[in-house]
Amino acid sequence: MSSSGSQPSIFSRIIAREIPATIVAETEHIIAFLDIAPKAPVHVVVTTKDPQYQNVVELAAGNSALLAELVAVAEQIAAERTNGQFRLVFNTGAAAGQTVFHVHAHVMGSPELTDHLG
Ligand code: ADP
Repeated sequence: MSSSGSQPSIFSRIIAREIPATIVAETEHIIAFLDIAPKAPVHVVVTTKDPQYQNVVELAAGNSALLAELVAVAEQIAAERTNGQFRLVFNTGAAAGQTVFHVHAHVMGSPELTDHLG
């Protein structure tokens, strides 16, 4: 599935409040919400409100300042919710596991000092 067609991505529908999500951070350009199928004790999706970039490579080339803002929001979420160490994952391409073609990062970690991600 690609966001280049006429259908808005699932994330655009969350941004528009058309479908529910637990929003944990929001700025003028960025929104973050709990992943509906968490793969870590803390798993937050951080995405751009602008849907034009399908992946992080496009975002880096098209608007590096916006990528930096996304990373800053991700770091803030991790500071608030994890033990300070976290994964920041951008799946890029269907063969790499990307299913939503609206650029986003996965912030994954644990609030527990002793826990680690498998
Ligand atoms: P993958 O599905 O392989 O993780 P992506 O990197 O494209 O691929 O990530 C999309 C993420 O969006 C998934 O982790 C998925 O659980 C999450 N997701 C899909 N729909 C929703 C939703 N309605 N609310 C919150 N998260 C969602």
